[in-house]
Amino acid sequence: MPSPVVLETTGDAAYDDGPFHGVTPWVHNMPEGDSIVGAARRVSAAIEGKVMTRIEIRQRAGSHRAGTRVKRVEAHGKHLLIRFDDGTTLRTHLRMNGRWDTYPPEARWRRPAHRARVVLEADDGFTAVCFDAPEVELLRDRRDEAERLGHLGPDLCRPDADLDEMVRRFGHLDPATQLGVALLDQRIACGVGNVYKSEICFACRINPFTPIARIDITQRAELAATAARLLRANLGTGRRVTYANGYAVYRRARRPCPRCGTVVKMRRQGEPARNTYWCPECQPTLPDASTWPG
Ligand SMILES: [Zn+2]
Repeated sequence: MPSPVVLETTGDAAYDDGPFHGVTPWVHNMPEGDSIVGAARRVSAAIEGKVMTRIEIRQRAGSHRAGTRVKRVEAHGKHLLIRFDDGTTLRTHLRMNGRWDTYPPEARWRRPAHRARVVLEADDGFTAVCFDAPEVELLRDRRDEAERLGHLGPDLCRPDADLDEMVRRFGHLDPATQLGVALLDQRIACGVGNVYKSEICFACRINPFTPIARIDITQRAELAATAARLLRANLGTGRRVTYANGYAVYRRARRPCPRCGTVVKMRRQGEPARNTYWCPECQPTLPDASTWPG
């Protein structure tokens, strides 16, 4: 059982908070998979293996009996799963505003109590509190879980993620789907959010507006390997780095590309529209694709 030493919040840096241009922010904001792994580790350190003396689960999930032990805390893509020893699993999805905090005994909460969706207090006084998560539910068994999470692609944050499966799943998409949209689709693979989307395309030198049909098998394999490498390199590091000391193109519009000096571009992409950043020199459009941006 990990000892509860480091107790922190999820941190706002976990989210894509680029300019919204008047569009409802939450649809543009999703935590990246590495943030959820970080949250799972903190919650695990605080309550895993312990008997819960207080279990409160709000928002249509019903309550749960105190006295249940937390068997395991894990991240599954952007979902955080808390497995109890009675076979049930609590699933939360944080989206933009949600966050898991952990507290030592008697500590003051960082957000007001009425915003708590889940409160799990262990018999030694350590508490994990989930604030403002829009998705909270108690899954009764593995069948419930398969129904809820079965569509998800391989979880890129896991060392055993099946990257060949990710490559295969690209082939299930409408061939006209643009790469930037495909990478965010959690049915292809779990863990890529808006930050990694642009950074992966840059690393692979592929224009994010390229239709999947124009991306060959070798490039698909490279995209999968790069996505997994970048996400895993940032597990537990605190500060996300995808290129040199920061990001190559993400939120660097109108600044020089770190590789070639060309001005980085940004354009909104997909439905809902998300900011996509790329270098038009390093990530050129294909010759007969004059209708794409860049
Ligand atoms: Zn460049």
